[in-house]
Amino acid sequence: MPCIQIDGGIVCVQPEFKPGDQAPEGYLAWHEWAEVQHKAGLRQKECGRCGKWKYPQELSSKIDRHEMQRRKGPVTVEAVVCNKCAENEPPTEAGG
Ligand SMILES: [Zn+2]
Repeated sequence: MPCIQIDGGIVCVQPEFKPGDQAPEGYLAWHEWAEVQHKAGLRQKECGRCGKWKYPQELSSKIDRHEMQRRKGPVTVEAVVCNKCAENEPPTEAGG
């Protein structure tokens, strides 16, 4: 984060974020970044695994498909998978 010396102290400026940038570390920076993404028209989707809301650039190309039973019959529900969940893909459900 760039810091500027001023009278009586230092002011640290949030970096400029661009639409499509990966999420930064840090709470305040993240909110700045999220605002930029939102203004650019990007919208979050809920990761089907961790339940967190992610912008498109944080989502992997993986899509989980679950068949659910509805009154009219089975329906395939698609859920996006975020990069973190795609990386941490467990090999089996055993253990844990
Ligand atoms: Zn996830």
